[in-house]
Amino acid sequence: MSIAIIAAALTVRAAWPAPAMDPATRQLAHDIFKQLIEINTTDSVGNVTTAAQAMAQRLLDAGFPQADVTVVGPNDRKRNLVARYRGSGHSRHKPVLIIGHLDVVEARREDWTSDPFEFVEKDGYYYGRGTQDMKVSDAVAVTDFIRLKRAGFVPDRDIILALTADEEGGKSNGVDWLLKNHRELIDAEFALNPDAGGVVMDSGRPVSMEFEATEKLYADFQVTALNPGGHSSLPKPDNAIYHVADALAKLERAPFPLELNEVTRGYFTAMAATQTGQTAADMRAILADPPDTAAAERLSQDARYNSTLRTTCVATMMNAGHAPNALPQRAEANVNCRIFPGHSQEEIRLALVKLFDDPKLSVRYMSDAREVFEHGSERKAMAPPPLNPEVMDALRGATQTLWP
Ligand SMILES: [Zn+2]
Repeated sequence: MSIAIIAAALTVRAAWPAPAMDPATRQLAHDIFKQLIEINTTDSVGNVTTAAQAMAQRLLDAGFPQADVTVVGPNDRKRNLVARYRGSGHSRHKPVLIIGHLDVVEARREDWTSDPFEFVEKDGYYYGRGTQDMKVSDAVAVTDFIRLKRAGFVPDRDIILALTADEEGGKSNGVDWLLKNHRELIDAEFALNPDAGGVVMDSGRPVSMEFEATEKLYADFQVTALNPGGHSSLPKPDNAIYHVADALAKLERAPFPLELNEVTRGYFTAMAATQTGQTAADMRAILADPPDTAAAERLSQDARYNSTLRTTCVATMMNAGHAPNALPQRAEANVNCRIFPGHSQEEIRLALVKLFDDPKLSVRYMSDAREVFEHGSERKAMAPPPLNPEVMDALRGATQTLWP
């Protein structure tokens, strides 16, 4: 699951129950949800194709033509479902794309109180791998396609549903594969993905509805010091562990600069209305030009606000030395960065080199496959797209209906 990092919030006023759903639709959603949970879609032993085909069959049974329901992918276990709900063509807009992933993170039976691939309802909760991330949303999307079709609804533009493989891991990311191999199937004006955001509750009271417009960029950097070493009875000032420790201490004391964009400005504007006292005042103060740095510092005590306001880099692993009575020949730390949209991995790597200011250290990029490279990618995290009134108005409307 993605964490809502670059979030924007719509404030909500009071708690009212959502309008009741008819029993048949409720049962259908439940059955699809159960079916998806009980198909193991982990990368190790699962099969995404089975889930994609099961959902395709549900759509075909509901009357979607074969030509509009496609199950495609790079291999037998990693096929994606793409279904097209035909519009009247009255709107000249390109389709709306709804995407979700079918795969789930690995789940070991011994870590669970129930079988993670058995759909269990107990004490008012659903148990099973993917109940939150994100088979519940997949089930809702498939159910909506079916009930709208049965109701005879015809949108004025096409709506595409893509349920994909390998979002959580694995080598066959479905969105990537579809973009490269079947762009025509998913080409759309904009995409909606229910994997992040949602209503935030405080003691059962809805406070805000959050969504993401982009995500921060992920990067690991390996900070290494090499040294000839020697016997620990004869210490020298030049010590590999001290070089890395000094660098990490600098990192701790030098947060990256405050940054705001259109989406985070909207977020703090809306959230200020839900807060009181110092926090509300600080949220307003950082939106001033120039931003109030003392206010930013106070807000940054909260890890969530801190990560919304800047690039963060933090030490996550260390490995150094080889014997208790020898001077270290090698010291190494992993620094994990979450990069604010608009900057690249390489830009942040160079910022770390400058901050550490130590020629004895190397700062290298480490890929997800733990391969080490001299440089990070120059690709920048996608800046958030402008807030589309079509999307925002619909989201506000739905929020007011469900949580007026
Ligand atoms: Zn997810």
